[in-house]
Amino acid sequence: MSIKLYNTLTGKKEIFTPLEDKVVKAYFCGPTVQDEPHIGHARAYIAFDVLLRLFKYLGYKIKYVRNVTDIDDKIINKALKLGISPFEVTEMYYRAFYDATKELRLIPPNIEPRATGHIPEIIELVEKLIEKGFAYVTKNGDVYFDVIKFSEYGKLSKQNLEKLMAGARIEPGEEKKNPLDFALWKRSKPGEPSWRSPWGRGRPGWHIECSAMSMKYLGERFDIHGGGADLIFPHHENEIAQSEAATGKEFARYWFHVGLVTIRKEKISKSLGNIIPIREVIKRYDYETIRLWAIQAHYRKPLEFSWDQLDYYEKILDELYSVIFTAEMKSKDIGDGEVRDIRNAIEEYRRVFIKSLADDLNTPKAIITLRNMVKHLNNMLEKLNKSEIAYYVNTIRELGWILGILQQSLDERIMEKKRRGKSISKFVPENYLKLGDLSEQLLNLIIDIRNKLREKKLYEIADEIRARLREIGIVLEDTKEGTKWRLA
Ligand SMILES: [Zn+2]
Repeated sequence: MSIKLYNTLTGKKEIFTPLEDKVVKAYFCGPTVQDEPHIGHARAYIAFDVLLRLFKYLGYKIKYVRNVTDIDDKIINKALKLGISPFEVTEMYYRAFYDATKELRLIPPNIEPRATGHIPEIIELVEKLIEKGFAYVTKNGDVYFDVIKFSEYGKLSKQNLEKLMAGARIEPGEEKKNPLDFALWKRSKPGEPSWRSPWGRGRPGWHIECSAMSMKYLGERFDIHGGGADLIFPHHENEIAQSEAATGKEFARYWFHVGLVTIRKEKISKSLGNIIPIREVIKRYDYETIRLWAIQAHYRKPLEFSWDQLDYYEKILDELYSVIFTAEMKSKDIGDGEVRDIRNAIEEYRRVFIKSLADDLNTPKAIITLRNMVKHLNNMLEKLNKSEIAYYVNTIRELGWILGILQQSLDERIMEKKRRGKSISKFVPENYLKLGDLSEQLLNLIIDIRNKLREKKLYEIADEIRARLREIGIVLEDTKEGTKWRLA
């Protein structure tokens, strides 16, 4: 099946054709490790993760590179603020980022290059640009890209050079020819991290590292370059300018951009103080809930964050799991009967599901199909034989894998919920949690005594018994038909 992807560069949905048959060479802009990763980052990484999983599912080999920006003005400023070395800053936040990617079950990149480990490659690329007349060195020892020399500047963000120029200005102390020119190399101030270069001690600008590292590991041309929509300009525009100026070839072929997360319709930003770290969300919700929330909207659209939304998607997962776990208990001993007519219905669902994702990653549609499958399975549970149920559930789980949801075993889901002090009653199959005979008799005895206390209006003690049972995970409900119990 062919995959259609929206390409920011052409502004169109295009059929994806890789440079090398059945191989996807992809680069995604990784974090600048100067702060904790937040919910906006999570969304972008999850969207790209689903794309990679889709390729894997369809049999593509993935060559995936995601960089770490570990030298930058922001890192140096943070180090000054905290009174520690910039290298300590990057180590601390790299770990926070790494933990988040593991928690969210993101497919790890094949290579995760760091800017500071690629200074020679960066210098070489800057030299090439100077040689070819696309970059110039200032008296200060800074090197700038000469935007005017690259005639296609603005082609990704669809902006006109003159308009852009009118809106830009040269900051004091900058020796630029043109306000849009951007730094490839910056001379460092005393005390800042610096590396030797033909232009004196300094450090790379932000944009050049992605060009140097993507080309080193994926080649001068590769298939997909991704990032958050906020990177289209200037970061990706500049990456294209530098790379194509240096090689004379088309750089990345498909540009994949993920929309931003908003909170009360406002952009997430430091100045608004509305940043929600991934760590905070992981404390309250399991990774599948976060993933399902992140992909419920199409990846190019803005996505609104709220805790209520997370509650909502957690509930949906509980409902889906309730059917899945029940079905799995029913189908335990595979081998009972053949998979008959139902196979066609299941395969039709699979086809619709994959078709949605292959159409520019339409996750909202794919989620609907998956939910319909679970609903259908639930309706058919009494009619299907064990093999059919197993086939159905396995297919649901296989498709869920592409989205990174419905992968938990019953034990794992119980653990994920208990870790966060949440109820498990919504998804645990009815006949799963059974008390031993003796425990059940004891519990009935306690309920009897409690009811006698209530008859004598000793409500305080009766309430205490109920509260104490609740603490150990047993919920009592007083109904018209008497007192009922369930596990929390
Ligand atoms: Zn980048």
